[in-house]
Amino acid sequence: MINNSYNARLDRFSDRVVRGEILSGSGDILAMTNVAQDGSESRYYPYGSMFAHTVGYSTRGKTGIESLANFYLLTSHMNPLEQVYNQLRDKKNPGDNVVTTLDLELQKIAYEGMGDRNGAVVVMEPATGRILAMVSKPDYNPNTIKEDYDSIIEDTDNSSLVNRASQGLYPPGSIFKLVTALEFIREYPDSWQDFTYTCPGVLAVEDYSIRCSGGTAHGTVDLKKAVEKSCNGAFATIGLMLNNESFTHLCDTLLFNQKMPFALASGRSRFNLTADADKWEVLQTAFGQGNTQITPLHAAMIVAAIANGGEMKEPYIIERIENANGQKVQSFASEGSHRVMTGDEAALLKDFMVGVVSEGTGKSVKSKDYQAAAKTGSAQFESGKETHAWFVAFAPADDPKLAISIVLEETGAGGTNAGPIAKKIFDAYLSR
Ligand SMILES: [Zn+2]
Repeated sequence: MINNSYNARLDRFSDRVVRGEILSGSGDILAMTNVAQDGSESRYYPYGSMFAHTVGYSTRGKTGIESLANFYLLTSHMNPLEQVYNQLRDKKNPGDNVVTTLDLELQKIAYEGMGDRNGAVVVMEPATGRILAMVSKPDYNPNTIKEDYDSIIEDTDNSSLVNRASQGLYPPGSIFKLVTALEFIREYPDSWQDFTYTCPGVLAVEDYSIRCSGGTAHGTVDLKKAVEKSCNGAFATIGLMLNNESFTHLCDTLLFNQKMPFALASGRSRFNLTADADKWEVLQTAFGQGNTQITPLHAAMIVAAIANGGEMKEPYIIERIENANGQKVQSFASEGSHRVMTGDEAALLKDFMVGVVSEGTGKSVKSKDYQAAAKTGSAQFESGKETHAWFVAFAPADDPKLAISIVLEETGAGGTNAGPIAKKIFDAYLSR
């Protein structure tokens, strides 16, 4: 975007317009322009690094919403009389303000909950596609990005400028069992309920051995119990029963291998299981390892679709444009939705996810005030390193208001590490 001629042309608008503000959904200022006595302008981000990747910056090229909404921020819809009056006095007109879907309180809880761990949190409203929070770490301070830029760029180990929430590609680990379960239900509509597997903790298939977490023997499980306990052996067994081609088709309809329908820079999730894939790859893929990769945003969209009865809303982050007096100029909404599963299928997966919270690995979001639905994951990405902790959830199960996706890099088990952040977000939002 930096060298884009369109932006260069827009930048000349700034001779006549003071760049507008970026606001949270309830009017908190996330980005503003201070004008000094001598007329010099500086962009200010009151919450510093908390919104770094989502709001972006405009002082060293443009990223995030600063880039996305550049045109609006540099366009003034003050009433024409006022505009002429300002021009006569050689005074700039105030640019339009961009009201986002972001929720300051939830963003703060997610940001603080992550602490110094790397990864991302995405919070979405399932019925509308509104992004309520989007946090990525490691972060940077947009107020000093101009000075810090070179040293941030040099630090390739951290890649702090990357918005991990929408661009970070991670192995999904056990959260992918929801997708595998859906494929199994589709391929065996009349017999999936009869599935049982007796887990000894380690499953041997030819030369391979598949371990359940900590080598735990889960005993005899059906499909629901296999999801609740996150039994790798059961899912490896299921994986060998699936048709690779139709599994790939399902993943394509869930928007794997597709461009993400989201306005901020986003990665493309990957699922690849060819007809001649070897047994090891099939086994691994069934429980979210193998070659599969997913972004935290995409994981949020899939659980939001389950929460929303099978309808996946395209996520959006700009709610409306207002002039500097707060009068509405333009409104936005989700640009599309995708029927990714039937209502019955969504209800089944929801039932499994409720079981994860009440009986399984997701007890960290158990509450007496609401029923949450969840799936945990601990994704291996490099042998000898701690796993990535995943947690996807929505609540309340019978009338979902929030869908959450969390990944914490090299942090271990998802339920114990990432779950408590989801709990705090649910608690805060659902007690309003
Ligand atoms: Zn097991």
